[in-house]
Amino acid sequence: MTRVVLVGPPGAGKGTQATELSHKLAIPHISTGDLFRAHIANDTELGQDVKRYLDSGQLVPDEVTNEMVRVRLAEPDAHAGFLLDGFPRNVGQADVLGTILSASDTKLDAVIEFRIDEELVVARLLARGRTDDSEAVIRHRQEVYRSETAPLLDYYADQLITVDAVGEVDEITSRVLDSLRART
Ligand code: AMP
Repeated sequence: MTRVVLVGPPGAGKGTQATELSHKLAIPHISTGDLFRAHIANDTELGQDVKRYLDSGQLVPDEVTNEMVRVRLAEPDAHAGFLLDGFPRNVGQADVLGTILSASDTKLDAVIEFRIDEELVVARLLARGRTDDSEAVIRHRQEVYRSETAPLLDYYADQLITVDAVGEVDEITSRVLDSLRART
């Protein structure tokens, strides 16, 4: 189980789980949100282009996002596997990911959905204090998740593993690892 995508609404704890799982499975954690934030922090041209999308909770255009992921997945550490956190975010991106993987004769092993009630996460996100964590932007990101990203759950029905994302961090990590093991 080395090529894994994490899907879940904003605030489901994907990032935290991705960090844990990346250590336990010894595969790189690739977060498109983190990559964009690093570009913004370094004030690169890409960072300047994407800042307004992050600030307003909208998706960065697919061409920009897909290209950034294509470059990242071509790096040597991603050859043996990866945990994608926050990508794909819509069906178009999922198609592109499929094309990138089949070009190197690989495919996804699993797609993990973190399931959590939206209302539960608003308070958690507000407490996180990221610049795109105002209540209005959070609500918008939730809407984007419902309309753009949730269709991936059908798209990936064959590889989908749904995990209850309510609980302690360690407990949820164990749920993910157990369900990954149960599939191999
Ligand atoms: P995240 O860190 O995953 O919550 O992402 C933060 C923000 O980065 C999102 O609200 C989007 O503006 C942008 N972003 C992250 N991943 C993607 C993606 N796959 N496609 C488009 N925009 C993205």
